[in-house]
Amino acid sequence: MMARRLLFLGPPGVGKGTQAQRLVGELGIPQISTGDMLRAAVAAGSEIGRRAKSFIDRGELVPDQVVIGVAEARLAEHDASAGFVLDGFPRTVAQAEALDRILERLGRELELCVVMEVAEPALVERLLRRSKLEGRSDDNEETIRNRMRVYREQTEPLVAHYRRRGIVRELDGLGSMDEVAERIRRAIAA
Ligand code: ADP
Repeated sequence: MMARRLLFLGPPGVGKGTQAQRLVGELGIPQISTGDMLRAAVAAGSEIGRRAKSFIDRGELVPDQVVIGVAEARLAEHDASAGFVLDGFPRTVAQAEALDRILERLGRELELCVVMEVAEPALVERLLRRSKLEGRSDDNEETIRNRMRVYREQTEPLVAHYRRRGIVRELDGLGSMDEVAERIRRAIAA
């Protein structure tokens, strides 16, 4: 049995988004990326986008209340009832606690937290390469360093939060996309 209510945790550039997308195709469940949703809101010029933009551009976290609202609305949509891959949410303890409440209200539970890790120099290199290809406004060196710091300080502690529940699977994010995908497949099938 494959787990179908999944959370991907890991530093910026580790490949969460890419791997989450692949899994969507294989399992037929949606990827829920608050980063993608916030960037879409910025592009659309919505109220949420206006509130989020300056934080994103500095590599800071968008305030919890804003992000929690976005994630909650998305999780309540019909296609998430069969499962989901959360990618980039939660990122703070307050968000993790909110997620627990949201899922409880929906009568669901997180099954697995997949933690991907790659050493920081390789991550920075990947993100700088991506900046040339995609032109994301937050992929410049100063902002990248800030996102790494924010991850270590605010998001990495969530690994302990989920480890206490016994649902953490850690894996090496270094390697080809296929190699990493295979590690993920094994981790969620076990
Ligand atoms: P990355 O993991 O490469 O930094 P994301 O697309 O996940 O990229 O996030 C980009 C930016 O969007 C973050 O730096 C932050 O400003 C904002 N963001 C995304 N998700 C969250 C969240 N859960 N809480 C707060 N801010 C978020």
